[in-house]
Amino acid sequence: MKKTKAGSKLKPRASKVLEIRVPRLRVDASTGVPEVESCATRIPEGYEDIVSGVVATPAQIRRRIHDLGRALQRDFGKNEWVVVALLNGSVLFVADLIRELEGPLILDFIGVSSYGGGTESGKLVYTKELKFEVTGRRVLVVDDILDTGRTLTAVIRKLKDLGAREVRTCVLLDKPARRQVKQVADYVGFTIPDWFVVGYGLDYAERYRHLPFIGVLRPEVVAETARGTAR
Ligand code: 5GP
Ligand code: MG
Repeated sequence: MKKTKAGSKLKPRASKVLEIRVPRLRVDASTGVPEVESCATRIPEGYEDIVSGVVATPAQIRRRIHDLGRALQRDFGKNEWVVVALLNGSVLFVADLIRELEGPLILDFIGVSSYGGGTESGKLVYTKELKFEVTGRRVLVVDDILDTGRTLTAVIRKLKDLGAREVRTCVLLDKPARRQVKQVADYVGFTIPDWFVVGYGLDYAERYRHLPFIGVLRPEVVAETARGTAR
């Protein structure tokens, strides 16, 4: 294959992603949910300009999703559930989560957008409707992060209006400090402080969803994007 000019400029692949020092977790004794107390400051090679700390490493995410899968399977039993994942942020999470489940289950997606490209909550817009009927069915809503609580509250209301028999919720991350409406999730991956995080599905202005870990976005990236100079 011919080497393009742009191709020859590509940085070598980061090789230290799995070797970073892990963030400190404290497990809440009453809920069993790991709370991230401080980020690891050693950033995987190549990501130093994007994040200021690591919230969860690929290995920590994997382990936690395995545990969530066991809890879900135990509670679901042999009943069939419709897993409704919220686009786009929960795509990586739901893909890994359902592989930890025996089912039976049906996977569907609903498109909800609440951030108009920035880091502050905006108006809620549905960008894709459900494909399957949820009337009379048990539904598990899967989202990337529970922040103000507005998105999850609206989606639960919509599913109940559509006649879902039961609606449960599972989020990878929970930021209780930012809550504006009273909303909790039935299953939580990690509880985090008021940090704006990216990676493992979570974006900033549609970027960084592909990062294999979850990290705290550097404020400089926000400033650069506003100036139109972000890479
Ligand atoms: P809520 O309606 O609970 O305020 O927000 C939920 C949605 O906001 C999430 O599904 C996610 O798309 C977005 N969001 C909230 N906090 C963060 C964050 O720290 N990072 C990113 N990338 N998105 C967030
Ligand atoms: Mg988002």
